[in-house]
Amino acid sequence: MQTLVMKFGGTSVGNAAAIQQTADICAQQKQSSENLVVVVSAMSGITDLLIQAAQQAAGNQPERMWETIETIRTKHLQVIDALLPADSAPVAEREQVITAVTARLDELNSYCQSIQVLGEVTSRGMDVISSLGERISAQIVAALLRIMGTPSIAVEATQLIVTDRSFQNAVPQMGPSREKIRKVLHPLFHQGFVPVVTGFIGATPEGITTTLGRGGSDYTGAILADCLDADELWIWTDVDGVLTADPRVVAHARTIPEISFAEVGELAYFGAKVLHPKTIRPAVTRNMPLWVKNTFNPGFPGTRISQSATRERGEISAVTTIKDLSILTVEGRGMLGVPGIAARTFGAVARTGASVQMITQSSSEQSICFTIPSKLSEDVVASLEAEMSLELYRKDIDRIWSRDQVVILSIIGAGMRETPGVSARIFGALGKANINVVAIAQGSSEYSLSLVIDQAEANAAVRAIHDEIIPPLV
Ligand code: ASP
Ligand code: MG
Repeated sequence: MQTLVMKFGGTSVGNAAAIQQTADICAQQKQSSENLVVVVSAMSGITDLLIQAAQQAAGNQPERMWETIETIRTKHLQVIDALLPADSAPVAEREQVITAVTARLDELNSYCQSIQVLGEVTSRGMDVISSLGERISAQIVAALLRIMGTPSIAVEATQLIVTDRSFQNAVPQMGPSREKIRKVLHPLFHQGFVPVVTGFIGATPEGITTTLGRGGSDYTGAILADCLDADELWIWTDVDGVLTADPRVVAHARTIPEISFAEVGELAYFGAKVLHPKTIRPAVTRNMPLWVKNTFNPGFPGTRISQSATRERGEISAVTTIKDLSILTVEGRGMLGVPGIAARTFGAVARTGASVQMITQSSSEQSICFTIPSKLSEDVVASLEAEMSLELYRKDIDRIWSRDQVVILSIIGAGMRETPGVSARIFGALGKANINVVAIAQGSSEYSLSLVIDQAEANAAVRAIHDEIIPPLV
């Protein structure tokens, strides 16, 4: 393969053994990929700790802040000691990486001290601090590759990815990024280097550090792959690819060998935190295949995600849930045929900042139901009651109420399209397990069917449906 981008997540660089494993995979792959780019996340847990340190600084809790900073420091220095031991690693390499890493750690100290003085942390400040994890992990991985004999260099994505100024959730500007990425990385390819790029971060045109949002390293991988016209993007994680269900719920959940972008988009929306749809957009646009692979089981092929995965008729890919939801109902006989009720309902919901996952309304128009995260249900009910106060007074709307502790169970698979009988099997399985369905929705894309059920029955429902419609591989 000519150009390949491989992204390694937090657990793939989570400790010394994992980093060694990651470096082995990279060194091995370099032999068959001429232009290989590696993107790394921060060590797992580090981004959370960095944010915590900043918050503790802002909250004037210096003892806690120093404790957190100390944890971050020791974690990294221990890993360096394990991977580049003082008695055997080349002295120059060890010193170089220690210098680079301590410089970052010292930056963390001074940022936190300034935040403590100011008593607040801006989102711009938060981005500088939370970028440090990737800036450290990239240095460590590159150093390890070098001592293993694979020429490598750490590259900060602030030099590559140009974004707007929406700190903590910055939007990349693809044109300028493409130019920079090619200008910086092509010469490195020609010299035979493997660039190890920091995931998650970018910079404004003026060079101010930004981040692409939590979990944004996948996005970095996709942006680089897009701008380099890469052949493929491989996302290395700690599971065997995209699974048919949460393995903690379904013991015999298995890897989906092949899945389409559309299906994986549904999965991401429905709680199986695979790849954010925004993340894979560049891959979708270019129709570039994407693989999800397991760093700790590198011989296993994993899941291939592409535009057109082949599907048997009726084949279901996955069963997943979104938990901690409430289902709200706006109910009344006076709503029939009155235009604008739905618009006002969702306007009132939007004003609370709640995002709606699923909506149903029967053709009698006597009720509209939708789900929202439970923690917002009181706010949303209050906002709806205010919006509809006149209708409530006139009894055109009888009541607005919320049922808490529900989940959306979603069954995903392009094989459902134009195939009769799939929902019969799904509802049959639930009936047999004696599980009640509160609400149902299916979009006309027919990629997924969503059911609302009580949270207490969620796991049993996932197992019942999985057993019924996803046969074990023979
Ligand atoms: N380190 C960042 C985070 O924890 C980005 C990532 O891991 O993808 O959100
Ligand atoms: Mg991550």
